Amino acid sequence: MKLAARVGQVTPSLTLSIAAKAKAMKAVGIDVCSFSAGEPDFDTPAHIKAAAKKALDEGKTKYGAANGEPKLREAIARKLLQDNRLCYGPENVLVTNGGKHSLYNLMMALIEAGDEVIIPSPYWLSYPEMVILAGGTPVLLPTDASTGYKITPDQLRKAITPRTKLFVLNSPSNPTGMVYSPEEVQAIAEVIVEKDILVVSDEIYEKILYDGAIHVSIGSFGSEIFDRTIISSGFAKAYSMTGWRIGYLAGDVELIKAAGTIQGHSTSNVCTFAQYGAIAALESSQDCVEEMRLAFAQRREVMYERLTAIPGINCSKPNGAFYLFFNISETGLTSLEFCDALLENQQVAVIPGIAFGADDHIRLSYATDMISIEKGMDRLDKFVRSL
Ligand code: GLU
Repeated sequence: MKLAARVGQVTPSLTLSIAAKAKAMKAVGIDVCSFSAGEPDFDTPAHIKAAAKKALDEGKTKYGAANGEPKLREAIARKLLQDNRLCYGPENVLVTNGGKHSLYNLMMALIEAGDEVIIPSPYWLSYPEMVILAGGTPVLLPTDASTGYKITPDQLRKAITPRTKLFVLNSPSNPTGMVYSPEEVQAIAEVIVEKDILVVSDEIYEKILYDGAIHVSIGSFGSEIFDRTIISSGFAKAYSMTGWRIGYLAGDVELIKAAGTIQGHSTSNVCTFAQYGAIAALESSQDCVEEMRLAFAQRREVMYERLTAIPGINCSKPNGAFYLFFNISETGLTSLEFCDALLENQQVAVIPGIAFGADDHIRLSYATDMISIEKGMDRLDKFVRSL
């Protein structure tokens, strides 16, 4: 069978395949410690599940508006105003099948052959692939531990060409966990405005912050940057709703309409009753978000301490998301060799940095229980010391 050429230009998602492999090993009784996918281990809070169950019982089981349930679009617009100082109406919001889908819809609506999209590297693995699927060209901006894995405004300015259409900002970052300070975000905003390009701000980890780090939305620094900003986010990480698949895109009305048209011909609406769970998530107490954040904070301390006690491992302490991203150069292994051997010898699943454009790094997710963290870190320690 001759497949479309675009398929050959992208690779399967390693985060998903490694997580699936770890789950399959567990299912056949193998004692695997999985630090692979960024998936909170907590159950979805009860009041969110209750709202979805109620919606099911009330018969909210039919097709809905392709762009999302009006009440949810309103709730998201309110949230963006209250939490992020972004003045959107429901018409500026598209409800999607998860944050990943909102970014995909955006790329399909905005990017075409000849367009360049600037992505800081290390990057979340699906960004460049989505740009490629849309026919555009990803332009990677390298960063390393010396700048906290953050780009500088000057670096961004120099990378912008007449073909640059979009810059991808992800803070807190997956995979590095780094958070741009408000001043750093503002300096990037100034370059975006000066060069008149667009920015998509992936804010999926905005609630998961430590050590007093602050998240600010790039679009909140005045009308010029607001007009050039698109927000992508979702419910998966903050509310432990990964399997629900609910995300959103917010931005210019014409863009949202265009992304909605693409969605209307690809997935129709997001699962109707699930959207009522999302409304409850936004409109109820946010204590559950804070409880989970506090648990992540504790796990981060333990995992970071254990990791940095291992000789030959170098890791900056991140102040957001739920990942540790560490350098393995001193082991002499590639990231894939490291991951394969660790899984084979010690049954610990991690993600190789090559998936994120950094073959000398490994990503650990600490969105898992403390017992697995303790056990998995014992094994990781033993593995590295045996090399
Ligand atoms: N975003 C999460 C991660 O990076 C989930 C898997 C995925 O969508 O890539 O692990």
